[in-house]
Amino acid sequence: MQIYSEMHNIVHKTLDAFSPGPYRCLICQNEDLIGEDGLCDACRQDLRYCPAPNYLSPLEGLNIGLQYTDAVRKAVLSLKKGRSFVYAPFLAQFMTVPNNWQADLLVPVPIHPVSELLRGFNQSALLAEYLSSKYSIPYSTEILLKKRFTMPQKGLGADSRRRNIRNSFYAEPECKNLRIVLIDDVFTTGATVYECAKTLKKAGASRVYACCAASPAL
Ligand SMILES: [Zn+2]
Repeated sequence: MQIYSEMHNIVHKTLDAFSPGPYRCLICQNEDLIGEDGLCDACRQDLRYCPAPNYLSPLEGLNIGLQYTDAVRKAVLSLKKGRSFVYAPFLAQFMTVPNNWQADLLVPVPIHPVSELLRGFNQSALLAEYLSSKYSIPYSTEILLKKRFTMPQKGLGADSRRRNIRNSFYAEPECKNLRIVLIDDVFTTGATVYECAKTLKKAGASRVYACCAASPAL
């Protein structure tokens, strides 16, 4: 985990050298009237907290930071495309891991190792890293693995998403008896998060929650 973190620090520094300066809006790059938060008025007004979402078993709690407005979609895409790693702490600041979940471990939703190699990072692991330091809860990228390459979920309906992702994860037995919080960037139908939760529960996790940056479904 330490190596993962150090590797990202190096990548952060390199990429941040190309990131917009302090006088451009973090999200839209507009140069007008940037506040101390690094945002223009239009983008700031487009950030809306997500109402408490409904969730199904096997999840035991679900928390989503923001509604998937235009500004949030731009921030999420910028994070995924590695434009600057500043988008990870930016989005993570809106994510909450409630105290009453008594979480033992944060676990980012994994991507396939080949995808991670091509992209250079897993955006959910970056969010988990910041939440781990914010809440002093350890995180692990080694407990839950993506074992099968799947088609992108984008463009698929709810049923196809469930079928596409089924049995594509593997959980290490070390998750046994742990209260785990899954971390992901976008919660659409929840198919991925539910499949991860199912996999962790089967491997013995005692409780599984999820915390996501944004959702277009709410
Ligand atoms: Zn803006």
